[in-house]
Amino acid sequence: MNRSEEIRKICEEKQIRMIDFKMTDIDGRWRHITIPVERFNENVFVYGIGFDGSNYGYAPVEKSDMVFLPDPDTMYVDPFAKVPTLTMCGNVCVIGKGENRPFDQYPKNVSLRAVEYMKESGIADRMVIGPEFEFYLFDSARYEVSPRQCAYQIDTRQAAWNCRLDAEGNNGYEVPHKGGYHIAAPQDVGYDLRSRMCMEMENWGIKVKYHHHEVGGPGQMEIEVELDDMPQMADNTMITKYIIKNMAAQEGKTATFLPKPIYQEAGSGLHVHMLLLKDGRPLFYDENGYSGLSRTAHYFIGGLLSHIASLCAFTNPSTNSFKRLVPGYEAPVTIGYATSNRSAVIRIPAYAKSPETKRFELRNPDATANPYYAYAAILMAGLDGIEKQIDPAENGWGPYDFNLYTLSKEEQKKIKGLPKSLEEALDALEADHDYLTKGGVFPQRLIDVWIERKRAEAKKAGEIPTPAEFMMYYDL
Ligand code: GLU
Ligand code: MG
Ligand code: MG
Repeated sequence: MNRSEEIRKICEEKQIRMIDFKMTDIDGRWRHITIPVERFNENVFVYGIGFDGSNYGYAPVEKSDMVFLPDPDTMYVDPFAKVPTLTMCGNVCVIGKGENRPFDQYPKNVSLRAVEYMKESGIADRMVIGPEFEFYLFDSARYEVSPRQCAYQIDTRQAAWNCRLDAEGNNGYEVPHKGGYHIAAPQDVGYDLRSRMCMEMENWGIKVKYHHHEVGGPGQMEIEVELDDMPQMADNTMITKYIIKNMAAQEGKTATFLPKPIYQEAGSGLHVHMLLLKDGRPLFYDENGYSGLSRTAHYFIGGLLSHIASLCAFTNPSTNSFKRLVPGYEAPVTIGYATSNRSAVIRIPAYAKSPETKRFELRNPDATANPYYAYAAILMAGLDGIEKQIDPAENGWGPYDFNLYTLSKEEQKKIKGLPKSLEEALDALEADHDYLTKGGVFPQRLIDVWIERKRAEAKKAGEIPTPAEFMMYYDL
């Protein structure tokens, strides 16, 4: 029996009617195309499914034919389709004269090449990572703000401020709007929904570490997962966001990963914990090193911090990302590392003590990132630090065991800040990307396309009148 016959048999057993194919676009959104099970045959694995790559950000309109090849190992019954549907991810190919070639800019391919590069360098053979998913749950009707409304309808200027205004106007008869960290029910408005989201993640093979209410509130949530291999974790990131957003929608809510949805409330990050392994041996542990970290771990940190401004173009790739990176909300604003310090861009958790768990977290990323590009860029920056032996302490990046939000004027001169805008991050990427293109991991074409695309987004956002402008200038 060939692959398609096997799958047809499974479909018969499970009474599946549709077969669905999911692809990641350049921005990191899932797109999909669905065929009746009757049309599914071996040709799908040989010739693939044709689609318009220009709508995915992958090709110009005059050269937009591309092909999707499904990977049966990713097969799963889509829990959000009412019609029984089997879904699969896979690879995207460009069409050649003979064989079709894997598309070098396809996010999954970039992350796979980063891992190949790591193996060939001899430094390590596995990178395991653990992202932390922070997001807000909103009542979809109440908090909907469209750019068009912001621009043209004065009434809706209130929308983006609603939560804030409610917080100020809270008269004590409602649940408090602040102090949500680990808060119990009834303030924990998403308790059961989050539990169900986590059960669905477990069903899909993602190991959940824990979930809780976050600081912003009520309504900021967090789900953390156990560390696993990059790029598997990039797949898991796509699946997790799909589950969270769809289960929220089923309850008439929206889940948003927007880094800073509400002014003066905590933003949502996608902190990434990481460590390297070689031949099964963790490389980041040394009981005599600062905070129990090895030289290799220090150099990896050095690589991340030396490229951090450019890295932000992939880990914080929206105009909204930089509204989160402001003092006072446990999001980083300066370049530095330290133990237990949630104001630093790299925090070494004091509680992770064993050689197997010795790691650090990078705190600047947010979930507007395309996870494949972001995780691959993080790996490439760290490897560059190891190759060049970039010592973070010698470069004056810490360890900073003090609050980095309340620096004196003198300290501010010494401690460099993170980019303040998407444009600044893109300028940095333009000037500093050799660490990404090494070994062809990030094609130069992808870097160019990314910069052009994101500059256009920044320009557009800059041209749209915002609610804040109505608040500050309307009556002038
Ligand atoms: N929400 C914070 C951020 O924007 C992080 C809070 C935490 O340490 O979990 O990164
Ligand atoms: Mg958190
Ligand atoms: Mg964290």
